[in-house]
Amino acid sequence: MTDVVNSHESVVIAIDIGGTNIKSGIVDKQGNVLHSRTIPTEAMLGRDELLNKLKQLIHYYRSEAAQNQWAVEGIGIGSAGYIHRDGHVAYATDNLPGWSGTPVQELLHEATGVPVRVINDVHAIALGESWKGAGRGMDQFVCVALGTGIGGAIIEEGALYGGADGHAGGFGHFIVQMDGEPCTCGLIGCWEQYASVNALKRMMREKITSLEGSSSAASILPQCEEKPEAWFAAARSGNLVANEVITQYIRNIAVGLVTLQHVLNSRRFVLGGAVIGQGAWLLEAIKEEMRKMCMPAYWGDGVELHAAEMGEHAGVVGAANCIWTELHSTQPSDHFSVI
Ligand SMILES: [Zn+2]
Repeated sequence: MTDVVNSHESVVIAIDIGGTNIKSGIVDKQGNVLHSRTIPTEAMLGRDELLNKLKQLIHYYRSEAAQNQWAVEGIGIGSAGYIHRDGHVAYATDNLPGWSGTPVQELLHEATGVPVRVINDVHAIALGESWKGAGRGMDQFVCVALGTGIGGAIIEEGALYGGADGHAGGFGHFIVQMDGEPCTCGLIGCWEQYASVNALKRMMREKITSLEGSSSAASILPQCEEKPEAWFAAARSGNLVANEVITQYIRNIAVGLVTLQHVLNSRRFVLGGAVIGQGAWLLEAIKEEMRKMCMPAYWGDGVELHAAEMGEHAGVVGAANCIWTELHSTQPSDHFSVI
């Protein structure tokens, strides 16, 4: 073996597939993102085009790595959808047409010849937060991403808890109201219909509609129902109508978290999503609502709510963590495995 080969730094390629964008990067063993790129998913072009896009991306990174004398040891991927522990897509919504049933892990391994690991995108985010973000040093926590829907993950004894098939963490679809709002999953009354950002926007629209023609506070409401941040600001500055909606939304978030607390006896939550950018006051308000609903035995000394820290890189870093774990199960204890 030559000195040049010995000088190769080991890296992995990490990819985070969302319905809108594919984020990606080359990540070293320490979790540093050495190169990164974001490209549009163009999901409407279908499964084969998406697979081609992934292969092209991997080819690009392998060239980059070769130029830098880095050795690509594996590929980690977080993907939207329900990813079986064998790395095939058990189910994906219409955000990724044709993705359901695709054996992504197997196909990309065959195409590249290097080890590939595919997991759910929020599972990847949780691993990213666990390795380098808000979950650093925590042996156990629950990750909840409040986005257009709600995704989740459970970190237990330092590892991602997968359940029977790998789908553990589908918190968005536990039912909180049996005769409630229809959900995109086909069920009725799922938590994400009450606590996701899309749910908040619906609540805002409903409030605006209910006030139409009345002489009440409609005129001083932020009129755009697509801007939750305006409603948060109005609520905090004393607008009673906005406050009513935001207070209900906070309760809706808290009811799901308290349920998780009762099921998992978890006291640590890492919360992600744009609304969490509201900051500490929102976390405190959610915590206070949780306290009112929580059985004392499960409350203990209280819960910890942490805002996710990794931002848009969480999924890429977490996907890298996942494949590093697979490659080097004897890595230091800040690496994680799927249990
Ligand atoms: Zn649902």
